[in-house]
Amino acid sequence: MVSRVIPVDPFDLVIFGGTGDLARRKILPGLYRRFRAGQMPEGARIIGAARSEMDAEGYRQLISAAIAEFGGTEAEDQASLAAFLGGLDYVTIDATGDGGWKDLAALMSRDVVRAFYFSVAPALFGALAERLHAHGIANDQSRIVVEKPFGRDLASARSLNQTLAAHFDEHQIYRIDHYLGKETVQNLMAVRFGNVLFEPLWNNHYVDHIQITVAETVGVGGRGSYYDKSGAMRDMVQNHLMQLLCLIAMEPPSHFDADAVRDEKLKVIRALQPLDPHHVVRGQYDASTESPSYREDAENARSFTESFVAMKCHIANWRWAGVPFYLRTGKRLKARSSEIAVVFQDLGHSIFEGDEARHRNILSIRLQPNEGMDLQVTIKEPGPGGMRLIDVPLDMTFADALGDDAGDVTDAYERLIMDVIRGNQTLFMRGDEVEAAWAWTDPIIAGWEARNDVPKHYDTGSNGPEDAMMLMHRDGRRWREIKG
Ligand code: NAD
Repeated sequence: MVSRVIPVDPFDLVIFGGTGDLARRKILPGLYRRFRAGQMPEGARIIGAARSEMDAEGYRQLISAAIAEFGGTEAEDQASLAAFLGGLDYVTIDATGDGGWKDLAALMSRDVVRAFYFSVAPALFGALAERLHAHGIANDQSRIVVEKPFGRDLASARSLNQTLAAHFDEHQIYRIDHYLGKETVQNLMAVRFGNVLFEPLWNNHYVDHIQITVAETVGVGGRGSYYDKSGAMRDMVQNHLMQLLCLIAMEPPSHFDADAVRDEKLKVIRALQPLDPHHVVRGQYDASTESPSYREDAENARSFTESFVAMKCHIANWRWAGVPFYLRTGKRLKARSSEIAVVFQDLGHSIFEGDEARHRNILSIRLQPNEGMDLQVTIKEPGPGGMRLIDVPLDMTFADALGDDAGDVTDAYERLIMDVIRGNQTLFMRGDEVEAAWAWTDPIIAGWEARNDVPKHYDTGSNGPEDAMMLMHRDGRRWREIKG
């Protein structure tokens, strides 16, 4: 199989915060990989814009070093790297002042797609949006890309939306949730809506429950004081986990376009029942012999912020009434693993007896590691000895199934940036979706704060607090193993 790489239209991409951590670690190495894959057209131009005083040559050196550090083996291709760096420019700019804006305006005279990546603190979004217009740099065709966190509650998200809406239409605003750029997440839609097999079963007649796990082994060290003001609910659930929940639970959109998909996702969020406080468990990791505790990482000995959260949610609509959705995410867990598992119901009647009757189909969609899917099916154990049944996975690990093409399991950032240039918003969050997600999470967080809820402790390298296990055990179910 040969991958099809379709070059995008010529563009000018300005990266505000182009010298920052995100730009160096993700955005520029990702753009370089797209360049090497042949997706960048002749005349694509990338302009870093940040506070640091430097010229274009200094910026090229900075990005060359970043690609060497974060770009993987592709960075070794010196000829490609030199060609890519040749397309970079830089402007020293002050988001909140006048410095640099005339220089940027002078660079932006071409009639090509214009995209502006706001890789800066959200407090600067308004100032950037205003100056882009005041200096005539943004036009009706321009796009802006904004990063998480998009607010820390409904009020701040609304205010950010209003700030951006004062200068840009919704169709020009691309709110990144990099989970949506993952290959498997898009495959979720392909599997659900491109096969006749699954959709008839995708409801409360056949599904027992759904589990979504996003487990990390890292702690919050390094960004502990930032994380301590946020916690797992704001940092992971409100955006990534809820987006996954939407894609798994939404009704089929009438067609695959941005607003049709996002309309359906929004309906899921609006149908979420308020969370029962007894159906949520918060946790904080303890120290191990090798690593500090959450409170040490956060440099806050009295922190009540959660580094882990598990919950049981319900979607109040005809398709999902009665089907629990169990969500969990945490730091310093046993393995780095993200997975969605659709656990189907027991057979209504089994012709087999005893243990042989107790087998279930499970469709598991792995986001990391080893992106892919498998469907657990029941078969007869081969060999003599009668009718013994076993569960085996029908495994589609993309790297195995797609061979060389799996190398094109493109990093989420690259895919999303190319979508910005193409003008495709399907994999970006719409303003009303973000607000609806905050409207659901705000009362949960407010409840914890009002009660001074103390997170349960859990061991580094474990599955999270014992209470999270109990959340499922009480329902006669159990979490799937967290496997790296
Ligand atoms: P950073 O602090 O490393 O970089 C900030 C950048 O903004 C620098 O280039 C700096 O020069 C520029 N800047 C700051 N003030 C400016 C001003 N007044 N005028 C012009 N430029 C100015 O930050 P980062 O980690 O790269 O994060 C950028 C944004 O992306 C933040 O909103 C962050 O929350 C978000 N984000 C970052 C990551 C990540 O992995 N780093 C992940 C998700 C989201």
